[in-house]
Amino acid sequence: MIKNGSFCIKCKKPLESDAIPIYRKLVNRGAEEFLCIGCLADSLGVSRKEIENLIDFYTESGTCALF
Ligand SMILES: [Zn+2]
Repeated sequence: MIKNGSFCIKCKKPLESDAIPIYRKLVNRGAEEFLCIGCLADSLGVSRKEIENLIDFYTESGTCALF
């Protein structure tokens, strides 16, 4: 899931492997540019932990095609 050269469009840090699918899930399914988990949490006004909990939820549920 990690694409070479994928960096957060805000802070320019390398994206976490889960940052891309959760961004597509929460923001824009067709996105080609992404925020890292920390910046995504900031932009949504939630804590990083809440994003990580969502990632765990979607990963474990196995029902989301993006994960
Ligand atoms: Zn970032």
